Amino acid sequence: MPTTPAPAPFTADDYRARMARAAESAADAGLAGVLVAPGPDLVYLTGYQPTAITERLTVLVLAAGQEPVLVVPTLEAPDAEHAPGSAALTLRDWTDGKDPYTVTAPLLDVDGRFGVSDNAWAMHLLGLQKELPGTSYVSLTEALPMLRAVKDEHELARLAAAGAAADEAYGEIVKVRFEGRKETEVAADLAGLLLKYGHSQVDFTVVGSGPNGANPHHEAGDRTIERGDMVVLDFGGLKHGYGSDTTRTVHVGEPSAEEQRVHDVVREAQQAGFDAVRPGAACQDVDRASRALIADAGYGEYFIHRTGHGIGVTTHEPPYMIEGEERPLVPGMCFSIEPGIYLPGRFGVRIEDIVTVTDDGARRFNNTDRAMAIVE
Ligand code: ZN
Ligand code: ZN
Ligand code: ZN
Repeated sequence: MPTTPAPAPFTADDYRARMARAAESAADAGLAGVLVAPGPDLVYLTGYQPTAITERLTVLVLAAGQEPVLVVPTLEAPDAEHAPGSAALTLRDWTDGKDPYTVTAPLLDVDGRFGVSDNAWAMHLLGLQKELPGTSYVSLTEALPMLRAVKDEHELARLAAAGAAADEAYGEIVKVRFEGRKETEVAADLAGLLLKYGHSQVDFTVVGSGPNGANPHHEAGDRTIERGDMVVLDFGGLKHGYGSDTTRTVHVGEPSAEEQRVHDVVREAQQAGFDAVRPGAACQDVDRASRALIADAGYGEYFIHRTGHGIGVTTHEPPYMIEGEERPLVPGMCFSIEPGIYLPGRFGVRIEDIVTVTDDGARRFNNTDRAMAIVE
């Protein structure tokens, strides 16, 4: 069993700096401020995660030149006080029976435009809008897409640890029996391995065997894995609050020449995406590099998704490696490079590593062999 020590927790100063940066970025984007509901943005900015998200309003209000205020239900105030970022903000609680929107309204510019975290409940936004009809709102991801995109050294260490744990899980899964077992059984093995190697949360365990591998969104089903199957294994979750996400495609017994060729093309495409990473390149350049290789090999129409997505306190977030995303890569960004080829009704191949941008290129957080593993 691995015994890597837990990383030092983020401090109130870390959260203070993140909240100040969010408020400044909002002002730069012409916004009066940012409203953050429970979810990944609130975890990132304050370390606070209510044990249950209920109909009661919890919202962090950030505005340039203003102290951060967290509005919470009185009964949840003791939990919020213990959040790691609580020393960097003011709590304002409201008791059942009071109108939480009249408590929140005085914190907001009456005719301001605010960025709102994507997962805020519509009922809360509508409540605020009714209280302050002059305000308007925009999705936080749309307004400040790169808010969480550049990771500091402590975040990078967590992402590296999550990637290493996923790699350990892969190192063991290739030793289990595939032939004659259901996809769901192998998926359960994978989930158990992620937990064994320190994940607190398993987000997905894709086991796509044979024709199921040709559906990138297939998770795992009742299909019994047969000798001769290609099997896409895509798995990840959170360890110490940061994500892992890696894919390898294995084969049960010896592959055919065509299977080997498709796998070789995807592996080269993954490497081409990796080689395209450098500070100042556009996100879409990574997608183009991987896609060009697959297109040149004659499989362009079978690569049916973007090449990558960011990762951090969630397993899918900006930046996206996709045509049309012209924003530049910046050192500290972390994202997947995961090209694939999907032959309908037959099989699929995907290879995925999480990488981070460094001053002189990319560094991988997944380092298991990208050659096709033969399983039994
Ligand atoms: Zn085969
Ligand atoms: Zn994945
Ligand atoms: Zn992914």
